[in-house]
Amino acid sequence: MYAVRNSSLCTKDCLCLFVCPTGATDTETGQIDASKCLDGCRLCVDACPSHAISLMVTSFPERKEKSSEVSSSLQEVFHSKTGQLAMVRQQQSLLERALYHSLQILGEDCAREEGFMIAQDRKSIELLQSLLECEDPDLPKDTIRELLDLLS
Ligand code: SF4
Ligand code: SF4
Repeated sequence: MYAVRNSSLCTKDCLCLFVCPTGATDTETGQIDASKCLDGCRLCVDACPSHAISLMVTSFPERKEKSSEVSSSLQEVFHSKTGQLAMVRQQQSLLERALYHSLQILGEDCAREEGFMIAQDRKSIELLQSLLECEDPDLPKDTIRELLDLLS
């Protein structure tokens, strides 16, 4: 076992430097010298106020073979989770549609409160479309497009 430092958490207080009996925790390079580390005595781990040092194991236990019961249970859970994901995705599109309509209604309410109301019928849409085709450079075409989006 040996100590490793997460340099993104290290605030360079240097407490580890003082407590380490072997001088393994060099803060200049940001590295801890694993060859000098006393098999994880953990003095530096306990001293670090930023929780920047942790211990790493040098060897991992051998992976055990899974029994067929465990494998089939895992597969079952996997299929159940992917099914749930598909359901969430479906709900998400419903949610998006609901959000779209809610924003549309909110936009209309704001326009109404501002004293501006335009009839939501086919004639209004045709009128706005004809204005869009007009050559007049003074027409506020972006606003007309926004109105069309709101009405359609
Ligand atoms: S004690 Fe922690 S914060 Fe301070 S220098 Fe060592 S690793 Fe960095
Ligand atoms: S675990 Fe002990 S020997 Fe290793 S770096 Fe930390 S204080 Fe030094």
